[in-house]
Amino acid sequence: MRPGLLIIVSSPSGGGKTTLCHRLLAWDPNIRRVITCTTRAPRPGEQDGHDYFFLTRAEFERRIAAGDFLEHAEYNGNYYGTPRRFVEEQIAAGHDVLLAIEVQGAGKVMELVRGGGFAYPENVITLFLVPPNMALLEQRLRRRAQDSEETIQKRLRIAEAELAHWREYDYAIVTGLIDHDVAHAKAILIAERCRTKRVPAGGQAWVQTELLS
Ligand code: 5GP
Repeated sequence: MRPGLLIIVSSPSGGGKTTLCHRLLAWDPNIRRVITCTTRAPRPGEQDGHDYFFLTRAEFERRIAAGDFLEHAEYNGNYYGTPRRFVEEQIAAGHDVLLAIEVQGAGKVMELVRGGGFAYPENVITLFLVPPNMALLEQRLRRRAQDSEETIQKRLRIAEAELAHWREYDYAIVTGLIDHDVAHAKAILIAERCRTKRVPAGGQAWVQTELLS
């Protein structure tokens, strides 16, 4: 069994991560999305266990202490964290795993990988979605109409700081029309799946099976 990839997708809030991830999930049933945990209140329409696992601060802190998170970060006054076990189980089962997180958390995973603290260091790919300009990002945050003016302003300030990190990622896509973004993300994934370093031991047999199928 070939272990799956961990695809970390970051962008400023409103940068299009969620839409892109949904399109990739619809494209390939082998891809799984990580449902992460947060202490922020659900937005209208958001469901526990679907959009996020919504936790109290006390429960979140208990899980930090228990080592349940691959990474966690504080963003705009709330905790966000990635359940470690789900990610590792899905990769071990051969699924490619999409993880949409902000830049501090992504940086922590990159550090963990570099420091040998992640079981599949060769399987991590990082992707940054760069909005073409701040005005468009602001427009998207407003169109979402889910946040107060104060929250939108805070998110825009955070976005400026986040944008400075794009070069730390393996790939960057300057976002445009969603079909364009999806086509680029698919191309990246397809190429990464073809990397010779990812061919498992006994690779000759694997190559032949792939060629014959
Ligand atoms: P929102 O409140 O808009 O749902 O999310 C705020 C930011 O936190 C977004 O950039 C989102 O991708 C990110 N985020 C969601 N889950 C996690 C997580 O588990 N860890 C980290 N570090 N960021 C997350």
